[in-house]
Amino acid sequence: MIQGSSSFGSFVKTICMAGLYIHIPFCKQACHYCDFHFSTNTQLMADLVKAIIEEIHLQKNYLNQEIIQTIYFGGGTPSLVPASQLHEILAMIQKQHTIADDVEITLEANPDDLTATNLSELKKLGVNRLSIGIQSWNTTLLTFMNRAHNAAQSQRAIDLAREAGFLNINLDLIYGVPGQTLNVLQNDLEVLIRNSPEHISTYSLTIESKTVFDHWRRKGKFAESTEESVARQYQLIMESLSQAGFLHYEISNFAKPGFESKHNSSYWSGSKYLGVGPSAHSYDGLSRQFNVLNNYTYVKSISEKTIPFEKEILSDKDHINEYIFTSLRTHRGCDFNKVQQKFNHDLLSQNRDYLLQLEKNQLVTFSDNLLKLTNQGKLLADKITSDLFVS
Ligand code: SF4
Repeated sequence: MIQGSSSFGSFVKTICMAGLYIHIPFCKQACHYCDFHFSTNTQLMADLVKAIIEEIHLQKNYLNQEIIQTIYFGGGTPSLVPASQLHEILAMIQKQHTIADDVEITLEANPDDLTATNLSELKKLGVNRLSIGIQSWNTTLLTFMNRAHNAAQSQRAIDLAREAGFLNINLDLIYGVPGQTLNVLQNDLEVLIRNSPEHISTYSLTIESKTVFDHWRRKGKFAESTEESVARQYQLIMESLSQAGFLHYEISNFAKPGFESKHNSSYWSGSKYLGVGPSAHSYDGLSRQFNVLNNYTYVKSISEKTIPFEKEILSDKDHINEYIFTSLRTHRGCDFNKVQQKFNHDLLSQNRDYLLQLEKNQLVTFSDNLLKLTNQGKLLADKITSDLFVS
């Protein structure tokens, strides 16, 4: 409960780990909703992999010799990269860094790329976590979104991954797509749960600028789902996955106990990470770096031994706001003591009335200076976090 004065309890335990993110900027085809950095022209693949390997070498001191606990191949579509090239990337990481014995190595894959052969190769490379872009089992929705796979390919990919020995699988689920009724979503959830993944990441469709959906919307050809229907879908997801034994450990992420994504958890706990490849971001505890978004410019610049990035030094205010944003999204919550002790900033006295109102409306709980969103509050997470931001 919110009381008269803040007390000084224990810190939220910060997990100390450094992560490496490798961005593979190629896709077979463009999904109609996606604004990530990728190209459907894969001609530059070999040069880009070479540049990534060179960047790992050039950035060898960025993490200040911290042990690498997580490696994440994201994109784009990393499952398009031949195993021999992934092997070269991993070999360079190993050469430049100390890798933890229990390192988590995740690779994002699209169902249509996974075969018994490449899954066995990925396993041999040490990939121990697969994140498969299922999105939905509904053919009409998959076609509407211009996904490159169908439901049968999704099922086959999961079965093959299990046969290859993958014991830690994330499946992506999208919701809020026009035409995705509660019944369609219910079916998607039932099939997902039947497949017993260790982790499920959910994405609410947002219409990003310069995507096909954005173009359709401008032309009046796209009827967006209403806020109420998206909220009902999110509630259905929370209820179904909680009943199926998943821990709702981050606003969009659900895991069987012990299978929370170590890599993403390190982002949310403020650990350092190095992002390699075009559009990748890095964080060293003091600043953020953003690599250039263009594949050709990236390759050219790295060939000249220059990393093409922009850098932003974070102020105390930035650190506090990032902490509020990321911590409130997690089940651990936002620890006001931590903000007080680390930044000498009293979040409680500045937000007392607002917090009382949130608590009264059952949108948050506040105990031992830990603020957590309730399920109802999660529906308003963006508004609540931005209201708490320090200006
Ligand atoms: S496969 Fe993934 S990264 Fe590529 S266009 Fe589709 S959603 Fe975007």
